Amino acid sequence: MAEVGDAAAWHRIQIDPAAASLTLPEQGPVTVETLCAAAEVRAQELGHRLGTWEDVSEAGHVARLAACAVCGEIAYARVEGDLHGVAGGAISKRCSGP
Ligand SMILES: [Zn+2]
Repeated sequence: MAEVGDAAAWHRIQIDPAAASLTLPEQGPVTVETLCAAAEVRAQELGHRLGTWEDVSEAGHVARLAACAVCGEIAYARVEGDLHGVAGGAISKRCSGP
């Protein structure tokens, strides 16, 4: 489980669009906000309660990260040019909380 605040952990997260079945708009540009919204819906379906999205952008890409308030699993959304994706336990595993 990645700790929020552990910057190195963010770099270990591989973007894998297939990791979650997200509903994204078929038209128009995919923005990091679009990804966050889709990831949030997915996380809620799995029982997570995501906290505030934190801006973890770096040069060359825009990224956001949020952690579940219950179990601490994270959701990570990133847009880099034409590439985009989401990753993290909060969109691929059920919440382990009560
Ligand atoms: Zn959770």
